[in-house]
Amino acid sequence: MEKILQVKDLHVSFTTYGGVVQAVRGVSFDLHRGETLAIVGESGCGKSVTSQSIMRLIPEPPGKIKSGQIFLKGMDLIQLKEPELRKIRGANISMIFQDPMTALNPTITIGEQIMEGILQHKNISREQAKKAALEMLHLVGISNPEIRLKQYPHQFSGGMRQRIVIAMALVCQPDVLIADEPTTALDVTIQAQILELFRDIQKKTGVSIILITHDLGVVAQVADRIAVMYAGRIVEIGTRREIFYQPQHPYTKGLLQSVPRLDVEGAELVPIPGTPPDLFSPPKGCAFAARCPYAMEVCEKVYPFETSLSHHHYVNCWLQDVRAKALVSSNH
Ligand code: SF4
Ligand code: MG
Repeated sequence: MEKILQVKDLHVSFTTYGGVVQAVRGVSFDLHRGETLAIVGESGCGKSVTSQSIMRLIPEPPGKIKSGQIFLKGMDLIQLKEPELRKIRGANISMIFQDPMTALNPTITIGEQIMEGILQHKNISREQAKKAALEMLHLVGISNPEIRLKQYPHQFSGGMRQRIVIAMALVCQPDVLIADEPTTALDVTIQAQILELFRDIQKKTGVSIILITHDLGVVAQVADRIAVMYAGRIVEIGTRREIFYQPQHPYTKGLLQSVPRLDVEGAELVPIPGTPPDLFSPPKGCAFAARCPYAMEVCEKVYPFETSLSHHHYVNCWLQDVRAKALVSSNH
């Protein structure tokens, strides 16, 4: 499958009064054309920082992309300067956020706002831009687009606003759409409709989606593959089926147990005890060791290598690695 985006060994840190936070510590993954990759994890795990790095929206300072490469169709985004990035944002990669209101200008009609992006990136007439805006509104399921085009954001409900933001993000037909908690601010029924819309749009446009969320229910509905992040690293990645039915990392298992299950009546929620480590001085070995019921001596000393469990399924956990035994004995 064609790799539309490749993130290689990304390291991002933030300088604060308290010290340097190592927010992302060596993240690598590929995004294939037409797939939805979900990045999941607790707040502060580095999932949003990863997506903002791809957009090159990390404020520098205090943030800094320390090292790594981010290839979009072979071009390394980390090497690009702001004017080149401005051409790529919106046109090749778009991003939408949790609260649609932050992306919309309350004083401008939604038609103008959708047209703005396309007029900025493409050399076309206003008439053609309007036609594209109408098509986008239709695509995101807004009826009477001719009338709606002339209305202002406050004339739409929260769910409708998120549809408009999605229309704005897709009007230039980007290769990649990054959605950071796109349904978190919406109620459950609307959430389901927006997720359905993502699937529908992907079928129609072939856009590749990176979905950032803490909500495994959302992931279950739309993701093709899932990357689980913990303390600035991806600890497990696999297909939706592999992650939901054959999770191997104790953190992934813990996350799954802490999700309400609709299929098992009276199933108990088991939150993962403890808290993630301090990323000012992250642990040398596995960052989950302090919370892990299976932690061994080697876990605290050495970060586990990546072990391949199938063509798509990778995990960083000593439990899956035959080398753990050898390392423990050589350490004595
Ligand atoms: Fe637990 Fe060790 Fe695996 Fe980390 S490497 S998740 S501490 S068993
Ligand atoms: Mg976030």
